[in-house]
Order: sequence, then C-alpha cells, then structure tokens
Amino acid sequence: MTKHMTGLHHVTAISGPPQANVDFFTKLMDQRLVKKTVNFDDPGTYHLYYGNRTADPGTILTFFPFVGAAPGRAGSGTASAYGYSIGASVLDHWAEEVRAKGARVSDPVERFGQSVVTVTDPDGAAVELIAEPGDHGPAEGGFHSTTLWLDDIGPTQRLLVDHMGYEEVGHEASGKGERLRLQAPGDARGTIVDLYREDGAARARQGAGSIHHVAFRALDDADQLDWRDRMIAAGMQVTPVIDRQYFNAIYFREPGGVLFEIATDPPGFTRDEPLESLGQSLKLPKKYEGMRNRIEQALPRIDT
Ligand code: ZN
Repeated sequence: MTKHMTGLHHVTAISGPPQANVDFFTKLMDQRLVKKTVNFDDPGTYHLYYGNRTADPGTILTFFPFVGAAPGRAGSGTASAYGYSIGASVLDHWAEEVRAKGARVSDPVERFGQSVVTVTDPDGAAVELIAEPGDHGPAEGGFHSTTLWLDDIGPTQRLLVDHMGYEEVGHEASGKGERLRLQAPGDARGTIVDLYREDGAARARQGAGSIHHVAFRALDDADQLDWRDRMIAAGMQVTPVIDRQYFNAIYFREPGGVLFEIATDPPGFTRDEPLESLGQSLKLPKKYEGMRNRIEQALPRIDT
C-alpha cells in the first residue's frame, strides 16, 4: 500500500514588528499564542507560535517577526496562502466581526464548492477562512489547506502524488490561471494542498508577509526517517534531522522551489511548560539559556 502523508504540521511565515502580529492573530483570529521563543538560527528575533488551545499539529502557525523586514512580493515558487477551516454556519458572522475590528476582509468566493473569505493580516498576507460543515472557529478548525504557487504544476504534482501519497480531487480555472487540488487520505487537519499556476507570474520575493515554509507531519522519529529515505529516493536533497525543541525537523526544496519540512508530532509544545501557561514566558533552548539576559534586552517588548 502506498504510504501517505497525514497532513500539515505547521506553516511558518515572516512578519514585520511582533506586536501587530500578536494582536491580529490572538484578538482577531482567536488563536492562542502557544510558544514564545527565538529564531534558533538568530536569537535576536522572536519565533512566535500560534495554535489551538491544546497546540495540536495541524493548527500551528509560526512567525519570524523581523522589525525592519522589507515587504515580500507575491509570486511563483512559494507557498502563497494557508487556509483555516471555519464552520459554514459562522463564516458570515465571523467575517463581519473581523471587518468591524478593522481588518480588510474580502467578499466570499466559491472554490471547489466551498465558500472562501480572505482576511488580510497586518503585513498584507492572505489568511483564508474556508467554510466546512459545522460551527467551529478558525482556531478549533485548524488548517484546511495550503496553496503552492508554481510556474509549472507537474513536477510538484508528481512528488506529492507519486511519493507523498496525495490524491487529485479537483481542478478548476482560477483567475488568470488554474488550481489543482490534492488531498491526503484520512481525516486529519490540513490534508489539502492546492497547486496554483498563473500565466505570466513573476517569481515571489521573500519578505514580511511571505510564507517561509510549510511543514508536513511525521508521527514519530522512525516515521520521519522513513520519509527522509523516501524523499531522497525521489531525488530531493534533504537535510539531516534537526532538533527544533518541540519537534524534530528535516527540510528540502520541492521541484517548484517551495521549502518543505517534515516535522515530528512529539515531543510537542508542553515539553518545557505546562499546557495552561503555554506562550506566557520566553522559552529558550539550552544553548541560549546562558545568554538569556542579553537576549531579553535585545528583543522588542510585546504585550500578550
Ligand atoms: Zn518549520
């Protein structure tokens, strides 16, 4: 039997100053700040994690907030959007409330038979709310999908379908281009990956408002090593396993240029603080504990 991915683990993006990011995601999008730490490669910058109340894989959105980041530019070769699942019965009300709080909210459009509303975050990035049966908010719903914007859909499609167990479930014209919907079997969160192509699109430029990478789930370390072997066999150049404190990670660039990660479910976000106080204090990996005073003084203050 073909092995298949479970779904998305997290999505990581770049933002401008952290306060606006925290306010938008916790107050308007009802996300919980589940971890406040630093960029492990650059401890002068925060790494902020949002998720549902229990910080489950498939609900985790993370940001590197760079105070002076230049704005990114949308285009091909990047993940261009992520979408939260929201209950169809509450979507209109939710959109109205977010609009009343000052965010830019699109009118609903139909995509593969589902209603989609796009909210613009403080850095100009698209946050999609995608209607599914129920009355859940976007934090409870977690991820519905991510969209990869590509020059050529074929090579990425082959990787996802032939080597990662995704199935084609829909294709439709979309704006100046096309959208192919792939889905992993099972009922986990974030099983959908849309491949989007547009005529004459320029390549994306990374910056504030850009998605940096998308991470898929491995159930444990052994599962991750098996995926690593499979991705190498598929011709990908995969990093060794890297300890990210809350999960182990491997990374590779898929053929369309998007950075993919495969992250383990364990140990999870309660590794270094209890569930009830997740996200309240600054957490540092061991290698930076000796520099805590200096790091705390350098980081901008944020009111959570
Ligand atoms: Zn990641």
